[in-house]
Amino acid sequence: MISPPQCIDNHHAEVVLNLPVDLCLTYTVPDNLSGKLQVGHNVLVPLGSRRVNGFVTTFPAPPPRRSARSVIRILLSDPFFGDNLVSLIRWVSRYYFCSFPRAFKTALPSPIRKSMKSPRVLWAAPAVPMTEIREEMERLTGRAPRQAAILGVLLKRGGAMPSATLLKTSGAPRSSLSALQKKGLVLLSREERPAGREEEILPTRPLRLNEEQSIALKRIREEIEKESFRVFLLHGITGSGKTEIYLQAISTVLKKGKGAIILVPEISLTPQTGERFQARFGDRVVIIHSAQSPGERYRAWMKAASGRARIVLGPRSAVFAPIKEPGLIVVDEEHETSYKQSAISPFYHARDVAVMRAKLEGCPVILGSATPSVESYYNQAKGKYTLLSLRTRPMAALLPVVKIVDMRVEREYHRGGVSFSNILLEKMKKGLDEGRQTILFLNRRGFFTVLACRACGYVAHCPHCSVSLTYHKKTRRLVCHLCGYTSPPPRRCPVCQSEDLVFAGRGTQRIEEQIKKIFPSARVRRMDTDAVGKRDSHRKILEEFKAGRIDVLVGTQMIAKGLDFPNVTLVGVIMADTALNLADFRATEYTFQILTQVAGRAGRGELKGTVIVQTYSPRHPALLAAVRQEYELFFQREMIGRRELGYPPLNHFVNLTVLSRNEEKSLRVCEHLARLLRPGLSGSDEILGPAPPPINRIRGWYRYQLMIKTRGVVSTLRALQAVLPGLGTARDVKIEVDVDPISML
Ligand code: ADP
Ligand code: ZN
Ligand code: ZN
Repeated sequence: MISPPQCIDNHHAEVVLNLPVDLCLTYTVPDNLSGKLQVGHNVLVPLGSRRVNGFVTTFPAPPPRRSARSVIRILLSDPFFGDNLVSLIRWVSRYYFCSFPRAFKTALPSPIRKSMKSPRVLWAAPAVPMTEIREEMERLTGRAPRQAAILGVLLKRGGAMPSATLLKTSGAPRSSLSALQKKGLVLLSREERPAGREEEILPTRPLRLNEEQSIALKRIREEIEKESFRVFLLHGITGSGKTEIYLQAISTVLKKGKGAIILVPEISLTPQTGERFQARFGDRVVIIHSAQSPGERYRAWMKAASGRARIVLGPRSAVFAPIKEPGLIVVDEEHETSYKQSAISPFYHARDVAVMRAKLEGCPVILGSATPSVESYYNQAKGKYTLLSLRTRPMAALLPVVKIVDMRVEREYHRGGVSFSNILLEKMKKGLDEGRQTILFLNRRGFFTVLACRACGYVAHCPHCSVSLTYHKKTRRLVCHLCGYTSPPPRRCPVCQSEDLVFAGRGTQRIEEQIKKIFPSARVRRMDTDAVGKRDSHRKILEEFKAGRIDVLVGTQMIAKGLDFPNVTLVGVIMADTALNLADFRATEYTFQILTQVAGRAGRGELKGTVIVQTYSPRHPALLAAVRQEYELFFQREMIGRRELGYPPLNHFVNLTVLSRNEEKSLRVCEHLARLLRPGLSGSDEILGPAPPPINRIRGWYRYQLMIKTRGVVSTLRALQAVLPGLGTARDVKIEVDVDPISML
């Protein structure tokens, strides 16, 4: 039988429901709404005996097979997003293998989905600059302690807050707040959160560009004018003026009446980043970040959706910002791994989503970096992306002297599992005597215990995968988490026969302890993810460091980027090798990126800096390329290895993780999945594993992984889709799909 052509008329709409479960249903549209209804509208619909709200994602939509119930009404007259954003979300759900409602929830933050009506909160904001608030607080402390307490809380908060919270926190009565309002110190408002008087941001004008900048901007402007899709890879060292190019490109976009999205890694979303954009564009900029309260997040989104803001600046999730008619998308520090969502599905990569969004919107996208990802540079080499290079710094800063210290021959201080070379200690002492600051840097990202030879620097690698083996304490074996190869640890180094083998894994904490022992009078602070827990303490440590109240700052990759401290004259890289030995094929890339950034760190003021890189592999090409700041050299070398093994960017990886509370079972299901999957995959696809990841048990769930190496993600996912139902998914088994994983761990 031939099925009748699907008739799409104005009678049906597809609605994603605002419920904890992922649900998307089709409803009929009553005649009185069919002229008004649009994609992006927030609507009220029936579900069982309830009424729930949801968003229209397709209209008109094909009629469902069974009869549908009817949309009750439109809740807010303005739609929240348009067709392009829905197409983008559909692409995310397909490419990253999750349901459409799931992807939709990722794109639309929960404050938007939940509190559709703006809550009528009474806001309190400082009405005078913060410096005056502080003075007033000090004046009032003796005479009106409760008013002083209110000002104290506002001062701490640094801006507007709900008056109820303000009163509760300060313990002051309403009358004190009214008194402050009468004195003109505090502003009360039931409207949108008042801006209050925050620190003034001085407006800036466009700078005169140097030649390289002008060439790059001209190319970008051409595409903005043409309103066509093109990916620019803007490769320029830190301080080469990339941000100034973003700013001037955005003015062109605004002149055309269009908008822009700027993505920055969460970590570099410091107040200074936002201020540079606000100083140029004022309140046309809206900033989104993870530390915002639900209310703040709600208003930021509405400001973008309504068109009152034309520029959205934010981390990963801002790629879904409902900016009307984007004319440009910028992804700054495009190589940053924080663009990949790793906690919950969909495991999307915001850079790749940004490229797709630009394609759908028909606008250019700029990927900026001092150390582009191998993927992006490869796309440029293949002609898919357009390269724009900045080789000089407009503000001629002195590049630091970089010294590689060969730890195999260096006499050293070695205690508590930490090694410092004599030269590093000497330089530190000199710096301390002169009142300069030092940063000690340990790259520890995704670092697990490896077996290393202290005599020759050998590290045990998998014979099949070219990643290092990780030591599993429980089984006392070395394991490759990619293919599952295992072996007992050797007694002697297979290269130099030395017995001086160590399980290396040195922490920042131990470095901090040892430095305190060696320099008892130095003020040492540690900053890494463990010590930093809260976003706020991170900021506080940096403020203290800037104010000169810390002599030595010890940290992980968090301190390697985006910071600018004129009094730092020495940067010590404690173990440059750690990342080279990481059990991840991107290890070398990460090391190169981080060392390049660290090498650009010291001596950014008038003082010339020194970088000391301690290593057991002083001739490693990535290390040498980083020291010489030669990206091309690194890239060419790196591609040789990637090509040999067919790793990305030549192929894609799709990582399947089977989780179960029963270890046996997770392995069995993983094996079964591999067997089922094999016939459906294309000939060139390869399945690696099952293998246990280095952390093979998380919160009682055992994990086994299959890694599929493939040319085409879409056909692989189709094969996966076909076998999943046949797997008889038991309750206690979960399968996670990570497309283009950035961590192999
Ligand atoms: P990047 O984003 O590549 O790190 P920035 O745009 O932040 O570089 O520029 C670094 C510094 O140089 C900033 O202080 C900026 O104001 C300044 N700068 C950038 N372009 C110029 C220029 N054409 N002339 C003078 N100073 C410039
Ligand atoms: Zn050896
Ligand atoms: Zn292996």
